[in-house]
Amino acid sequence: MPEKTDKCMVCGKAVGGGQSICQPCQESIRGEAAGKRRKVNTTAEKAMKKHGQKPPDK
Ligand SMILES: [Zn+2]
Repeated sequence: MPEKTDKCMVCGKAVGGGQSICQPCQESIRGEAAGKRRKVNTTAEKAMKKHGQKPPDK
C-alpha cells in the first residue's frame, strides 16, 4: 500500500499536491467555519446590544 496517495479527509477522494483535503472540501470547510464564526459574532453582538440597550432590572 503506497502512502503517496493522499486522500481527502472529508470526502475520501484522492488529492494531489500532498494535501489532506481537496479544494472543494477546503472551501466548504472554510465557508462553514466563517459562517459559524459569523453566527457566533452575531449572537454575541446581539447579546451585547441587548445588554447596552436594556440593562437588566434588579
Ligand atoms: Zn474532499
